[in-house]
Amino acid sequence: MDKIYSALTQIVGEDYVSNRPEELFTYSKDLGTSPPQFPEYVAAPRTAEEVSRIVRMANQEKVAVVPLGGGMTLAGLALPLRGGIVLDLKRMDRIIELNEKARYVVIEAGASHGKLTAHLHKHAPHLMHSEPGAPPAATIGGNLAIHGQGDLAHPYGFNSDMLNGLEVVLPTGEICRFGSCAIGCAWYTLHPLPDLGLFLGWNGSTGIITKVSLRLFPCKKFREMDIFVVEDETLIPDVLFALTHVGMAEDLVAWSSAIPPFANELHHISINITGDSKEEMEFKRRQIFDIKLSKYIRDGVGAIGAVAQPSERPQISKSADWKKGGGFEYVGSIMPVAAYPECYRRGAEISTRHDIPYTVLGRVIGAAHGMMFSWSYAFNRADDRSVQHARDALHETDDLVMELGGTIWKPAVFGQQLLMSRMDPNTLQMMKKVKTMLDPNGIMNPGNWEVA
Ligand SMILES: Cc1cc2nc3c(=O)[nH]c(=O)nc-3n(C[C@H](O)[C@H](O)[C@H](O)COP(=O)(O)OP(=O)(O)OC[C@H]3O[C@@H](n4cnc5c(N)ncnc54)[C@H](O)[C@@H]3O)c2cc1C
Repeated sequence: MDKIYSALTQIVGEDYVSNRPEELFTYSKDLGTSPPQFPEYVAAPRTAEEVSRIVRMANQEKVAVVPLGGGMTLAGLALPLRGGIVLDLKRMDRIIELNEKARYVVIEAGASHGKLTAHLHKHAPHLMHSEPGAPPAATIGGNLAIHGQGDLAHPYGFNSDMLNGLEVVLPTGEICRFGSCAIGCAWYTLHPLPDLGLFLGWNGSTGIITKVSLRLFPCKKFREMDIFVVEDETLIPDVLFALTHVGMAEDLVAWSSAIPPFANELHHISINITGDSKEEMEFKRRQIFDIKLSKYIRDGVGAIGAVAQPSERPQISKSADWKKGGGFEYVGSIMPVAAYPECYRRGAEISTRHDIPYTVLGRVIGAAHGMMFSWSYAFNRADDRSVQHARDALHETDDLVMELGGTIWKPAVFGQQLLMSRMDPNTLQMMKKVKTMLDPNGIMNPGNWEVA
């Protein structure tokens, strides 16, 4: 039996290791356009200590380690580009502490967003976390490792801004804690200790997040989704500026898509309103519609599309069926809100050129401090030409993000290289130093954020 396989079975037990081709096959792909990459082993640890032992062994053997959560980025970020061990973290899914009064939860990083939501519904229905629009199997750790954002992005920003503490296994195997938990206190704050934030946005290439303290927020009793519609895309930045001034919405998403045909070239703003009483709901609705949106209606340039929809969110995943093959991948970006019109127009052009119905979406982050703008491209998995069209469209869109002055979010390796080619040389060298210091053998998710 080979040495690495044997070491892995000793650490996590035989049932949780595999080197069987049919199981490696399922870990060689994600849902996007990336070509398959096979690992040599898959291991599913249960504790941070097991993760630490695996990483120490991998350092000795100079074998790559790729942390995997839900594998839902679509951008190939958890595919083993240099083979090695895929660490499937989904067994590390315990909810360790729910502190209702201080509004935080301590949770293992392999727990899914769906699990946390279900737990809160049951045990603390007056609290919520910022849930991404991703499938519920997406994990807390995977989302933080790429600076994800969820449905509380408008009031509270990125999910990675909602941390009270972190436990990380370093690439050399040490288990480190950051925040008040590092000095033995409760996991209630990350500040005011020195900033050691070297793990968010790195795609697991600087360490494996094993525990997280995540802030929770009030979950109001009533919620509704209203939709405001305009034809002229140049109005969207103004409308979003007005809506973020009143700050009455919980979530604000502007979107447009070619399908269904009646929606083509219309721009929808989904406005999520929540409240603890009918009066609070009515007050917020009045602030939004009577005070901020009525002038667009009076001028004949805007209309109410729908009111009080049951929290139906714009779902980019619906576009997966546009090509009848069940495939889609999107480029995400962090953009100034003012860029919406150009993002939409240029994105629709790219889609038309590649014969893909366009789907675009911009979620407001903070008080219009930025938006996560995405361009989604559907493809038919069974048709190589269709996949290639989507791939080309994705690459063109990465270039477009840079041209429009944005930053690619959760970039695939192509996008990472594009970003690093524009990066200030001192920053790039700093990234290289940090990676070399933390990961001297270059074993952690190699190929990601790799400075030449
Ligand atoms: C339909 C759809 C909608 C989406 N909507 C959103 C959205 O609204 N907001 C949003 O933020 N995202 C969204 N996403 C993108 C993505 O699915 C999520 O960000 C998801 O939370 C990523 O988590 P994951 O567990 O799937 O990560 P994975 O894909 O497993 O991993 C992501 C990266 O992090 C690394 N990693 C994984 N776990 C760890 C860990 N514990 N420690 C260190 N590194 C780790 C991996 O190696 C990889 O590089 C969407 C995706 C889809 C398919």
